[in-house]
Amino acid sequence: PVVMITALDQVSDRVRGLEAGADDFLTKPVNDLQLMTRVKSLVRLKSLTDELRLRASTTRNIGIEELLSRDFATEDVKPKVLLIDERKSSVERIQKMLRDSAELDVATDPNAGFFQAAETQYECVLISTAFSGFDALRLCSQLRSLDRTRFLPIMLLADEGEEGRILRGLELGINDYLIRPIDQHELMARLRTQVRRKRYNDQLRASVAQTIEMAVIDGLTGLHNRRYLDSHLQTLFDRAAARRRPLSVMITDLDRFKSINDTYGHDGGDDVLREFARRLRKNVRGIDLACRFGGEEFVVVMPDTEGAVAEKVAERIRAEIAQAPFAIGSDGKTIEVTVSVGVSSLLKGTDSVAALMKRADLALYEAKSGGRNRVVAKAA
Ligand code: GH3
Ligand code: MG
Ligand code: MG
Repeated sequence: PVVMITALDQVSDRVRGLEAGADDFLTKPVNDLQLMTRVKSLVRLKSLTDELRLRASTTRNIGIEELLSRDFATEDVKPKVLLIDERKSSVERIQKMLRDSAELDVATDPNAGFFQAAETQYECVLISTAFSGFDALRLCSQLRSLDRTRFLPIMLLADEGEEGRILRGLELGINDYLIRPIDQHELMARLRTQVRRKRYNDQLRASVAQTIEMAVIDGLTGLHNRRYLDSHLQTLFDRAAARRRPLSVMITDLDRFKSINDTYGHDGGDDVLREFARRLRKNVRGIDLACRFGGEEFVVVMPDTEGAVAEKVAERIRAEIAQAPFAIGSDGKTIEVTVSVGVSSLLKGTDSVAALMKRADLALYEAKSGGRNRVVAKAA
């Protein structure tokens, strides 16, 4: 990031500097507070940009690359900004300054402004310090304590001589400030920094969430994957054992799946797996953990469920699979699919996750050798 230091009368220099790629500027005489605030805000933006670049290169995330290469000066997605200010003349001045560069909403009442900020997705909020009978900093701290506005950039519009208040504002978590009379280029440069930081931050958070999701979700079916099952089943097992609550597990394996692949190709097989997962999900409760165990095998862990009930659920799933043929491709081809299911339940006394899974697997084996398209439950 580049910060220019300019004299008050060098307006055209500032404009040229910003056009040439400077991120911000300070007007002489430069005070410590201004310098620190500006540097802090640009350093934060820089570390975000670096992190996003790293993510983009390791994950080949096209969305991040596109965001980073965007030119914010000619940005077509104008930032959505809220101005909370009760002075009409000041509001009009700022509206004029941001006419072409932001989508600006105005709230003249601070309490109404607070609710508006919480309800609408703004990318920055500008708060005037000049309210009659209301402390603007209270509004700042309210915005910081509310979940929905915690990461919303706040810029304070303050008057000369309000350094003490600005300092308290910065401690409360405001992101930047401007001193009246407000310079249009300064306002636009600061706003751009805040909006970029917000957009980068949002993108980074989404990318973290996506990475976490990719680690535990099976890409083909959208169900949890085996890694998730391995880490979570023990927890469910321990909880059930500690509370002396029942717990059941079913393992499903599609019948003669190899021949589906052989006849319709791997893509046809994948269609069947997706549809199977859809029907499976439809037939289990929200608290049940449905996972793709691998290949065409799926596992459902059912907390608080007795063996007899789990067997009924398994039977319902078996019937749902056999009862209607599966569509393959998009040209109306369909195929009959059946599934075999093994069910086991937590035993009182000594039992383990491995033993529980082993019993379900043995039951599945019996279902296969007994002729397929059936459910076998290992009595507890
Ligand atoms: P059985 O009734 O005994 O279960 O017969 P089967 O043909 O289903 O036998 P098996 O379980 O040994 O075969 C599973 C096949 O599933 C083997 C593999 O080619 C196929 N498969 C595994 N993962 C995938 C996948 O992600 N997509 C597709 N299309 N096929 C897969
Ligand atoms: Mg199999
Ligand atoms: Mg199979």
